[in-house]
Amino acid sequence: MTTMKFMRRNLVGCLLAPVLLVAAGVAQAANVKVYAFHAGILKTQTQYLLKDTRVGTPMDIPIPFIVIQHGKEWVAFDTGCNAQAAKDPAGYWGEVIAKAYTPVIKPEEEFREAIKLLGLAPRDFKAVVISHGHIDHAGAIDNFLGTGVPIYFQKAELHEVRKVVDASTAGGAYCLGDFKHLNELNIQEIEGVFDVFGDQTVMVFPTPGHTPGHQSLYVKPSTGKAFIYCADALYTLENMERFVPPGLAADIPGAMQNVHWFKFEERRGVKIVPSHDPGYWAKRAWAPKELVP
Ligand SMILES: [Zn+2]
Repeated sequence: MTTMKFMRRNLVGCLLAPVLLVAAGVAQAANVKVYAFHAGILKTQTQYLLKDTRVGTPMDIPIPFIVIQHGKEWVAFDTGCNAQAAKDPAGYWGEVIAKAYTPVIKPEEEFREAIKLLGLAPRDFKAVVISHGHIDHAGAIDNFLGTGVPIYFQKAELHEVRKVVDASTAGGAYCLGDFKHLNELNIQEIEGVFDVFGDQTVMVFPTPGHTPGHQSLYVKPSTGKAFIYCADALYTLENMERFVPPGLAADIPGAMQNVHWFKFEERRGVKIVPSHDPGYWAKRAWAPKELVP
């Protein structure tokens, strides 16, 4: 083969390769990056996270939420607390909750302000997924008013939220104020596993126990290991390492089943990320740096 012929043939091959891959249904993998945001802290006590453990010992716990970039699309998992909670905790959450979990949230840590670190606004998201309806996870869903961005809850969790809304009174760590715009938001119901981009890189799955419709997040970033962000299905690594029940759960045996399963996944090489573990998060980088779980 002459040099000219060889070059011509391989040039055509290179140009055709992507077209043929797409035609064969082999999509090019999207680049997946993960960021964790620090949405303030809650000043609480150890026994509220680790049942009957070091009772009365103060514990300052971080409030995380996760943002994932998938190609050119963005998805958020949780939102942190409502901005009102930082300004008037007792007025917004009620005195009992505000005393047990006193928030310290800087203005720049509120969801819509924090995401500016990545140059994002609420309207830029393809989807928001909420682990559960508690004050420090679903608190800022009102940031998506007027955007039409779909906000996904498990059906069983939405049932709990609607109970609070219908009764017009707070229920435990569900705050009525967080859901006052529920009917104006694009709320979507999931039942079971949800593969957000359809390529198994970002999936959510039910982990009931902490609340009846709690869900956790699985991510396979383009670089690094796959991980599970447990949200409140695992408050701290100590809950898993010593099998200590959570201090707050709708169903403790159910919550412990999840913890055993997280341990199993950890043994299989999946990184396990707890929600409110100060020691864990102290060793991790917050956005705008990428999370290395
Ligand atoms: Zn919770």
